[in-house]
Amino acid sequence: MATSTPRSPARTSEPLVPGVAADGTLPLPWLAAPLQAAHRLQRSHALLLQGAAGVGHLEFALLLAQTQLCESPRTLDDGRTPLACGRCASCHLVATRVHPDLLLLLPEAWRVRLGWLGEDEGRLAKGEAKPSKDLKVDQVRQGIAWTQQTSGRGRGKCLVLHPADALNTPAANALLKTLEEPPAGQRLILTTTDAEQLLPTVRSRCQKLVLPLPAPHDARAWLEARGLAQAEALLAATGGSPLEALVWAEEGLDGTLLAALPQQLARGDGSALAGRALPRVLDLLLKFAHDAAARAVGGAPRFFADANWPAGAPALPALLDWQRTLMRTARHDEHPWNAPLLLESLVEQGAACWPRGPARAGAARGGPAGRASLHSGA
Ligand SMILES: [Zn+2]
Repeated sequence: MATSTPRSPARTSEPLVPGVAADGTLPLPWLAAPLQAAHRLQRSHALLLQGAAGVGHLEFALLLAQTQLCESPRTLDDGRTPLACGRCASCHLVATRVHPDLLLLLPEAWRVRLGWLGEDEGRLAKGEAKPSKDLKVDQVRQGIAWTQQTSGRGRGKCLVLHPADALNTPAANALLKTLEEPPAGQRLILTTTDAEQLLPTVRSRCQKLVLPLPAPHDARAWLEARGLAQAEALLAATGGSPLEALVWAEEGLDGTLLAALPQQLARGDGSALAGRALPRVLDLLLKFAHDAAARAVGGAPRFFADANWPAGAPALPALLDWQRTLMRTARHDEHPWNAPLLLESLVEQGAACWPRGPARAGAARGGPAGRASLHSGA
């Protein structure tokens, strides 16, 4: 089945998804409120969990599944909302990902990220094969066949698809009938960071449940308790997402680097982004462009503190052009780009939006696009 032999997670801060601890502690403290909301939707057989990246979709989906399957549930502090006990045999089977009534469908890329690969997936584990980002039709068909088998432990069954945005069209279509009429006792839980990416026919068959980001103060406290310094800058740059902030910190992005970034990018210096994965680079550039545009029209920046910006307003039409270029590039971030040249070209175009100031790194060398191809191997 899709969840396979546990291995140690690839990164220490990845969601470890152990579920509720034996003392009743939630995997992430801000999941109590949506758990109460989920309880009110307990009769729905298909739930769509929506929330910003890094809010804890997978943790929450598994928390719901664990609670449904728990043989001795307790309640939250409100005395009403059921919560898995974290101690019974069923909870133990969920925590070790071998519960017969829980099936988790993940794209290969997610299983690589979590270190959850089967014995027969050595090439993926060694990085010799490129993991798919899709939830494929074969996985969905396997999942549907699984839903038709009887519950092993008699408390219903739970099929989790994470993230549902990764369902390709054939896979989404294969799922529709089961979403509409799942076998008795069967619950489907889908997650998404962007419900608009889902087929309307998938969306309309699910009850929606929004996973809110924690309040900034709570998010900062949670990160600081995990030893993260300069949590505020990371939280701002990730849009308030604590799990994302942890991942960023592990990639070497810290408050000092983020504070210097607006000045550097405005003068055409992209060195702080060199060598980073393209999706991360594009995310940072898009956030920089967003804030620059907000400031250009007198608004407040959202991702980079106002005090860290250079004086002088960028030219708005050029900035909007640059944003479009960034978005276009982001849609093709799996294209085999020549990453250093692409970074230089994008940063150069961004810096050109600012009034002429001190000499820019790229401009001094005549710009990259004319000298070599942006595509690797060309
Ligand atoms: Zn339990």
